[in-house]
Amino acid sequence: METSVRELVSRQKQYFDSGITKDVRFRIDMLRKLLEAVKGAEERLLAALHRDLNKPKAEAYGTEIGFLLREIRFALKHVGKWAKPTKVKTSPLVFGSKSRIVPEPYGCALLIAPWNYPVQLAFSPLVAAIAAGNTAVLKPSELTPAVSALIADLVRDTFDPRFVAVVEGGPEATAELLEQPFDCIFFTGSTRVGKIVAEAAARKLVPVTLELGGKSPCIVHRDADVRLSARRIAYGKFSNAGQTCVAPDYLLVHRDVKSELLERLRETIESFYGDDPVSNPNYGKIVNRTHFDRLNRYLSEGRAVIGGQTDPERLVVAPTVLEGVPLDGETMRDEIFGPILPVFEYDDVDEAISFVLEKPKPLALYLFAKDESVQERVLSRVSFGGGCVNDTLMHLATPYLPFGGVGESGTGSYHGEFGFRAFSHYKSVLKQTTAFDIPFRYPSSKLGYRFM
Ligand code: NAD
Repeated sequence: METSVRELVSRQKQYFDSGITKDVRFRIDMLRKLLEAVKGAEERLLAALHRDLNKPKAEAYGTEIGFLLREIRFALKHVGKWAKPTKVKTSPLVFGSKSRIVPEPYGCALLIAPWNYPVQLAFSPLVAAIAAGNTAVLKPSELTPAVSALIADLVRDTFDPRFVAVVEGGPEATAELLEQPFDCIFFTGSTRVGKIVAEAAARKLVPVTLELGGKSPCIVHRDADVRLSARRIAYGKFSNAGQTCVAPDYLLVHRDVKSELLERLRETIESFYGDDPVSNPNYGKIVNRTHFDRLNRYLSEGRAVIGGQTDPERLVVAPTVLEGVPLDGETMRDEIFGPILPVFEYDDVDEAISFVLEKPKPLALYLFAKDESVQERVLSRVSFGGGCVNDTLMHLATPYLPFGGVGESGTGSYHGEFGFRAFSHYKSVLKQTTAFDIPFRYPSSKLGYRFM
């Protein structure tokens, strides 16, 4: 008989309460098991990614499996240190005592994943949850069914369900999960669903990490290395057919370099995907018809100066640069999340800054400029989750930087030690001496309070 979700969570809580998952050796053993499971399933994972998203092997390996293996190895190397209590100074007010900060796992974690990097974005939060000593229920995306089924199989074959289990399904399954008494929630997905998750977490007062999306700007200043910028922008925008949460969403380019940048982008796109990208088998597809139709509406809002072709049978949209897009249309209201790049020009970097400031705080910002005063001006005036100067996406490629959004693009962060922190409560412990007792703090029937 199938275990109900309620029963599953209750068993995980009992398992957590036994204390077994808190042992750092247990965490290391489990991370090793996960490492071996992912390595052993590489070919099957690549095939499932190809089936669901037509991801080319090399791209899928680099952005999903390779990334994940690095995250597991990094956690294996550092978890012992992360989990250690830290001794801190004690105030003279509590003279004689010792203070420490003890990281402890929240307990039973709920992890909800999206479809665009369906392996990495399901398993990387799991790495952090395990490293921090939690049990976990993982809900992959229903929009990538081959990957979701494979993740469920891998987890079933690797872990005791009292420790890690997968629940498959869409919004209804997620809604049921959100009713359960989890100790923390980690959600990756859209801002719209993020609000639903945040409300559910608020009702139960559980900590929640929200890794959301938004419109990430890319600014190309007049002194940028235009050829290099074009390559790095095209890589960030058109990998996974633009279905990347941190892909540049729109381009703000200085008027003096706009025509050169467009020319370089055209050359770059051709060198990456050939002169007919829609029929290139190594170029990604759009996840489903709804998203394909949505992207077609954006195409009709502007003039394609590069690309613009589509294949409705195979759900492919060519790498496209759009001009003349209205600021109040759907394209500039929604997160594009596809291979369409609207371009706008500016004369002064302050105009570009104002343009960005009118929108909600983005998940990422990319600036291509050599002048350090221009770099500092943009970085100090605009709030964003994370980003790069003279590159795109690469701030994700290091575990030493926290990855997360701010405002509508998210709350909290992860990767490396930041992931461990997202799944840990930092408990304060003051150990008082019994060798002596300072009397001033106690009330006195004669003098009243003498202290505090
Ligand atoms: P989504 O919000 O539609 O779905 C995410 C998860 O929520 C899925 O598991 C889905 O089953 C579930 N869900 C969907 N509707 C729900 C509802 N009504 N109630 C409860 N659960 C529901 O997002 P998506 O389409 O899978 O992914 C794309 C979005 O995710 C984009 O906005 C993108 O920017 C964002 N994203 C963010 C990051 C990040 O790390 N910040 C990474 C990838 C994607």
